[in-house]
Parts: sequence; C-alpha cells; structure tokens
Amino acid sequence: MCHTLTVTLPVDHSVLPDRRVRAGWTGSGGADATLPAHANRWLSAKTGLTARGTPVAPDSALAVAESGLPAPARAVLSAIVGAEHVLVEREDRLGRAGGLSYLDLLGRRGAGRPTVPDAVVCPGNRAEVQRVVEACAEHDVAVVPFGGGTSVVGGVAALRGGKAAVVVLDLARLDRLVSVDPVSRLAVFEAGVVAPEAERLLAAHGLTLGHFPQSYERATLGGFAATRSSGQASAGYGRFEDMVEGVRLATPRGEWRLGVSPASAAGPDLRHLVVGSEGAFGVITEVTLRVRPAPAWDRYEGFVLDGFAAGAAAVRTLAQGGALGTVTRLSDPRETEVALALADGWRPAALRAYLRARGVVEPCLLVVGWEGATRAEMLSRRRATRRALGPAVRLGVGPGNAWRAGRFAGPRQRDALLDAGMCVETLETATYWAGLDRLRAAVRGALLGSLTAPGRKPIVACHISHAYETGASLYFTVLVPRDAEDPVGQWQAAKQAACAAIAGLGTITHHHATGVDHAPYLPEEIGALGVDVLAAIKDRLDPRGVLNPGKLIAAPPPAPGPRPAR
Ligand SMILES: Cc1cc2nc3c(=O)[nH]c(=O)nc-3n(C[C@H](O)[C@H](O)[C@H](O)COP(=O)(O)OP(=O)(O)OC[C@H]3O[C@@H](n4cnc5c(N)ncnc54)[C@H](O)[C@@H]3O)c2cc1C
Repeated sequence: MCHTLTVTLPVDHSVLPDRRVRAGWTGSGGADATLPAHANRWLSAKTGLTARGTPVAPDSALAVAESGLPAPARAVLSAIVGAEHVLVEREDRLGRAGGLSYLDLLGRRGAGRPTVPDAVVCPGNRAEVQRVVEACAEHDVAVVPFGGGTSVVGGVAALRGGKAAVVVLDLARLDRLVSVDPVSRLAVFEAGVVAPEAERLLAAHGLTLGHFPQSYERATLGGFAATRSSGQASAGYGRFEDMVEGVRLATPRGEWRLGVSPASAAGPDLRHLVVGSEGAFGVITEVTLRVRPAPAWDRYEGFVLDGFAAGAAAVRTLAQGGALGTVTRLSDPRETEVALALADGWRPAALRAYLRARGVVEPCLLVVGWEGATRAEMLSRRRATRRALGPAVRLGVGPGNAWRAGRFAGPRQRDALLDAGMCVETLETATYWAGLDRLRAAVRGALLGSLTAPGRKPIVACHISHAYETGASLYFTVLVPRDAEDPVGQWQAAKQAACAAIAGLGTITHHHATGVDHAPYLPEEIGALGVDVLAAIKDRLDPRGVLNPGKLIAAPPPAPGPRPAR
C-alpha cells in the first residue's frame, strides 16, 4: 500500500518499494479519506449531488489482457535486472496502469479502460537503466518511465505506440542520495527518491530542497525534473527547473550528462531539453540539485481581500515589489467558500459575519508563509509583505496554520469526493498579469458551460499559487455530481472546452506537464516548427521511438481535439 512510502522505511535496495497506484491516493479508494459530516449536505445543496458513490472496483473486476511481452525481450530484461525485478503478474501491472487523473481513477473504478503495461521492470541502478533502455529499443518494446505515478495528464499511460509490447520502467529502486556538497550547496540524488525522503536525507545536513507540490508525499525527484514541476513554496525556492543544476539521461543512444557549472555561455542550455522532456527523450537517472539551508523560522498567516481582481492586484504588487512570501496563495471567492464549507474545524459563519462587518463583499483568502534562517529575516520579510498588502483584512495565524496543516490533504479529500459520487478534477494554466482576468473568465465560462446540466450545478473554484513579476498561474478545481451514464465523456468534454478556452490566452500547462492530454494543444502554443524541433530531438535520441509514446509529442502532430484513444 502507498502508506508504506513513509520516510521511516529502512532502505533495502534489493527490494522494490511499493509505489503501486491503485484506486487513488490512499490506495484504497478513500478508506482513510473522509469528508466532514456537513460537507455532503453542503454539496447536495450547492451542486445537486444525489448520486450514490461509485465504489472502487476490485482489481479482479477489471479487464486485463495477459502480458504480451515477447519471451526474448523478457529473457534479456531478466538478465539485466534479475527475473524477480521483471513483474508480469496482473496485480503488479495494474498497479502501474496510468497515473492519478480523475479519468485514471475512474478507470480503476470500472469506468473506462486502464492502460495496463505488459510488464513492470525495476532496475536497481543507473547502469541497469541504461541497459534496459537499450534492450527495449533493440526488441521494439515501448518504455514508460514511472516515478511516483502521480501524473494527472496521462504521462504514465502505458501506450504501446505501435511497438511489440510496453513496459513500465519503475525507478523506485534508484532511491539513494549520491553526494552532498555543502560548500556549493549542491546535492546529487538518484531519480527515484520520493520528495519526503529527499527532505529527510537533506535535513541531516541542515539543508532543504524547498519543493513541496501537493503530490509531495508520493512524487519523485526524477518526476519533478521530467515535468518542470512547481511546488507550493515556488515564490521562495523557485520552480523545480530552477533547482536542477545537472542531469544524467539514459537514452537508447547512450548516456547524456549535462551540467558542469552554475552558469555558462556555451550555447543554449541543453539541460532544459531534458527538464520537461517527460520521458520522451530518455530516462533521468540522476539529478544534481541546488539546495538551501533549512529555515529555522517560519510563520503562516491569512488575509482577506475583497474580490478576485483586488486580490490579484495585491499579489502582483507583492511580486513586482519583491515582497512575496515563501508561499503566497490567493483563493477566488468560490474557492474561499468551498474551503470554508469542506474544511473541518473552521467557524465559517462567524468568519463571514466578521468579514461582512468589515465591509467585505466577496472574500478572497490569501495565505502567506514566510521562512527565514533567522527570526529577524523572517519577520523582515513579513513586514515587507504586510506593508505592501495595505488594506487587506488580517486574520492572523489561524487560517495560515490550517492551510499548512492540510496542505497535502487535498488528494485524500479527492478520493472521498469520488466515493461520494462527485466528478472532481483540477487543471491549471498561466499568463501575464494583463490577461489574467480574461483567462480566468474564459476557463470558468467554458467549464460551467460544459458541466451545467439539469439537476447538476458545477462549482468552479480557482486560485493563484505561483506568482511572478510578469504574471501568475491559475489553478482550477471543478466539482460536479458525476454523470452516472457517461462519467468519462462528461469530463472529457469539459476538459476539452477548458483547453480550447486556454489556447491563445495562456499556457496549456503551468506545472502538470503535457502528457497525453495536453499534447494535442502543444502546436497551438509552440507552433508547428516548435513541434518539429522537439520531434527532431526525439528522433536523434530515440530513433526507434520506444520512449514514452504519445506523450509530449503526438506524432504526427494532431489537430486540436479530444484526448487521443489510449
Ligand atoms: C493530487 C496531486 C497533486 C499534484 N500537485 C502538484 C503540484 O502542486 N505541483 C506540480 O508540479 N505537480 C503536481 N501534481 C502533478 C505531479 O505530481 C507532478 O507531475 C510530478 O512532478 C510527477 O512526479 P512523479 O514522480 O509522480 O512522476 P510520474 O507521475 O511517475 O511521471 C510523470 C512524467 O514524468 C515521466 N518521468 C517520471 N520519472 C522520470 C524519469 N526519472 N525520467 C524520465 N521521465 C520520467 C513519466 O514518464 C511521466 O511522463 C499533482 C498530482 C496529483 C495527483
């Protein structure tokens, strides 16, 4: 079960840590995920939820074809990693069948078809990964690199791409901290290290990476690099790509090693061809990361601004004035309302009354967290933010600490909402400040238009969690009663409408990556020439096209449209 991923596990490199993605975050479809009692009532009133939940289908109820891995390929892979690390049992293959998007989770609840690989291959070190990749190219076997399996865009869908078979290359056994250079503030990790383990290993040196996406508990460093991930503390520590100083990539044409100095004028920075390559150019086996001293002081506080436009303007002022907190996160009125309704332990009625008394009409919750090596540093950053925020209503540490305590609970809540019969999914984008309102309105309108139906009222909530001098990300959460007849079609249509609304106004993805789902929209963003350049690079590194077919580059470049059949 996935809760065995805790950092207290003894490290035994001969055994595969169990990273199987089953029904959801918890691996049990919600057994340790519950909604507070009042949440179901609130959802019924607001969305029309009446449906009974769709229970998690037992693995035995899912149609899974026999492994089609040809015997010669299996023999070669077994010779490289050991037969015990080539898994062909149904349960092991199902456990790596796709990631954690809403559609992936539905697939494991019996709606839709999970993409099940022919085998799961678990190399134990960098050299074995290299040999596995070369052997797969030789035997015409597609390879899907698999870190934590938390992709929400079809990034780990086991697509054959016309090859003889498809294997998932699970990086779980590449779980070592290779070296730390405290003078240069660099740490070298194997790619399969999960984020909490990386933090535990760095803490022993008084260091932190500072990368805390909501998928923190399960995702890996290699996965972060492969997807250009962005953590909740991006304002303080940067996006993951800012942390990558060097990489090693196993390609069918040999190992590619990049990164020798903090900066260079030796041509384009090729590290950025690897960061964000989503397993389509090679398998990242090692990353050299910039690390920082672990903060000794922190403080999280809540503020309320009146209306999203005022809130966004306040965040822009912080970003352009160098006064962002380490964490800076603004919820729109709808998300603020949902947070108050679904959270446990809040007193929403009292808070609403207080805000009304302060003249706030459309409360937007802003959470800001400051960290610092010294108390004085932390407090000076806090002073700068508070000064720049001006008239915001200050709520003190209560909401800040509540957000912090629940910052990784979202995935569990999602499992519980699925159990209750809801369609619940997120999507994200980013644009420049001048176009932010327009983008938010366009995506909201598209989602509401697609999902509103007789008896079903969607909730579309939004927040800014990554702000830059020139713009910000928008992160949407959608809640609507699931269409019992066609739950897959319900979400596919909504997602397609949202993507079409984004095209031309913002990026198709700020941090979830391209995967299968966004690949059709890439040509609109980077142009046909851009797709051609990516395809040429792939062709050079992976001439037989075995690496993660269908992700990043849809070949041939498709017209914008629905998600391709898997
Ligand atoms: C509940 C939830 C919350 C999330 N929150 C965030 C968030 O806050 N910020 C954010 O950025 N993302 C978030 N994500 C998305 C996801 O966690 C990220 O994309 C993450 O970077 C993936 O890491 P992973 O190890 O799970 O990779 P996987 O899901 O295993 O793989 C992701 C992609 O990278 C490729 N890949 C993985 N490892 C390697 C490797 N070593 N070499 C080459 N390719 C590789 C895979 O083939 C796939 O295409 C969230 C996902 C969920 C389910």
